[in-house]
Amino acid sequence: MADAPLLILGGTTLAGDLARQAAATGQWVIYSLAGRTKAKAIPDVSNRTGGFGGAQLLAKYLHDNDVAAVIDATHAYAAQISSNAEFACRAAGKPLLRLEAPPWEPDHGDHWIPVDDIPAARDSAINIAKRIFVTTGRQDMAPFATDTRCWWLARVIAPGDDLPSLANGQYVYARGPFEAEDEVALMREHGIGAVISKNAGGAATYAKIAAARELSLPVIMVSRPPPGNAPTVATIEDALAWLALTFAA
Ligand code: NAP
Repeated sequence: MADAPLLILGGTTLAGDLARQAAATGQWVIYSLAGRTKAKAIPDVSNRTGGFGGAQLLAKYLHDNDVAAVIDATHAYAAQISSNAEFACRAAGKPLLRLEAPPWEPDHGDHWIPVDDIPAARDSAINIAKRIFVTTGRQDMAPFATDTRCWWLARVIAPGDDLPSLANGQYVYARGPFEAEDEVALMREHGIGAVISKNAGGAATYAKIAAARELSLPVIMVSRPPPGNAPTVATIEDALAWLALTFAA
């Protein structure tokens, strides 16, 4: 067991599960969240919340806290912190692993419309349906706020002052994981005609994709940002194997 901490950059279901499992091996874990929403502390790990102040200060944090290694398990669309982690680990000479759920692939019966970004998703939606389920998260609500060309049902984890009010729509508040039958019921209740989604991968938020398939609704799928350069694994098992090798070295 290492007597120096592993820093996990978190904010996803996968990252939380990794933190629990790494701690269960006896590893000292610091679990870091940006702090966009309130989250329950993970037991048996050191929980920290808030940005580091940029890539240089993340490098300083790694040095000052004698961090042994970093696993970046942030969301596939959280490109800034992943880029900062690469810079900081290089600068501080720390090993870095990226843990990322592979993207979902369209299944039989899926009708996906790929778009480059959130404004493109919004503009695509207006040609498809009048009532749209927006699932891309609280950081991405601004493009929908004043747009009255569709009615937007926007799901975010919790209310907050950071959320713009919607001129033509409403928020629903819920934290995943979600079940397909509940997603079907929600979409039926609100007369939804299309879904806007990021391609998060993993099981926690897949239910809306399965529900859209069941209801024969199109999914406007925002493309992932380009991947970084850190070595990458797709599963917690592979991340723990990397950890064992890294700390054995
Ligand atoms: P981002 O744009 O890549 O990062 C913006 C800034 O937030 C970073 O520069 C960093 O601030 C801070 N930050 C981000 N993740 C952090 C972490 N785990 N620990 C400490 N600081 C962090 O990130 P984002 O897209 O706003 O996502 C923020 C968080 O929400 C991440 O934890 C991510 O995993 C989670 N999340 C994001 C999405 C999404 O669609 N983007 C979806 C689900 C969950 P400093 O520069 O000050 O260090």
